[in-house]
Amino acid sequence: MTTMTMKSIVLRAPRVWLGEIGSSVESGAVAISGGRVESVLRPGDPVPAGATVVDYPDCTILPGLVDAHVHLLFSALDTALADAIHDSDQTLILRGVANAQDELRCGVTTLRDCGGRGLLSLSLRDSVNAGIISGPRILASGAPITTTGGHLHFCDLEADGVDEVVKTTRRLCKAGVDFIKVMATGGGMTPGTNPRAPQYTTEELTAIVSEARRLGGRRVAAHCHATEGIVRAVDAGITTIEHCSWLHEKDGRDFRLEVVQRMVERGTYVVLTMGSERAAVKPESELTEAQRAAVKGWGEHLELQRRTVRGGVRFVAASDAGVARTFFREYPLTLEVMALLLEIPI
Ligand SMILES: [Zn+2]
Repeated sequence: MTTMTMKSIVLRAPRVWLGEIGSSVESGAVAISGGRVESVLRPGDPVPAGATVVDYPDCTILPGLVDAHVHLLFSALDTALADAIHDSDQTLILRGVANAQDELRCGVTTLRDCGGRGLLSLSLRDSVNAGIISGPRILASGAPITTTGGHLHFCDLEADGVDEVVKTTRRLCKAGVDFIKVMATGGGMTPGTNPRAPQYTTEELTAIVSEARRLGGRRVAAHCHATEGIVRAVDAGITTIEHCSWLHEKDGRDFRLEVVQRMVERGTYVVLTMGSERAAVKPESELTEAQRAAVKGWGEHLELQRRTVRGGVRFVAASDAGVARTFFREYPLTLEVMALLLEIPI
């Protein structure tokens, strides 16, 4: 996080949570100096000389949150698709600033931008790092690699076949991305793609992974709804499986415990994007028609996400904020919903 404040500050609250189960400090405080957290103070610890003390009664202080999958350049409105296609670069970047600051205001100090048009997300990242704008630490992939006409093709990075995906990976690394995002299956946001089918072969995905690794040890994140796409991504050595929806190629779901076990063996992470699932705990009167229909289909989806987590896989929380009706400022609520729906003790 970038901060303009360089004074020493002590934040006091009835509870300071250090980030692990059972790690709360009652009547604790956090000492900040030069814009960085210096220490957690326990009752009786001396307050650093000259520090300004700010009390937050009825509050809990948490470590900075991480949102591992967002789209800062997307609008989160019902018109998210049209906005992403038609808005000017200037509008997209201004929206990106507003969205990044919404995440910061709700406690997110690090996020991964998992794809937007061109290389605009790199400008956002660099502007935060340079102190031009305030915002969370941004890890940016630039545009996602996709097939011709594939998921998010309007982000302008289509590549087909091993040669093209290797060259595209090289171009992204040359531009300075933090990691590579590849669309291993179709996606719901892009008309004409098939979320139930893979977009790339294992050979193509493997080529991306090895080239990204060669160039600065970069990691690869793969958008995966279809089970066959998940299987290929795991085989290819992808680091993070995004969404992991276990969609059967024709209908319904196709969960495979042996694939979860392979993820555990290989150290593959699953990034669970639960931003829209928050609707499942809202009163029905507050849901849109589309959300009401979607909630009905979530029962099995959530059960499979629970089985994925219980299979011992390393999973990471994320919102997918930016897609329609998935708002940047709601991430803390997303985490609460995730813990509730996946039955994770916190
Ligand atoms: Zn996404």
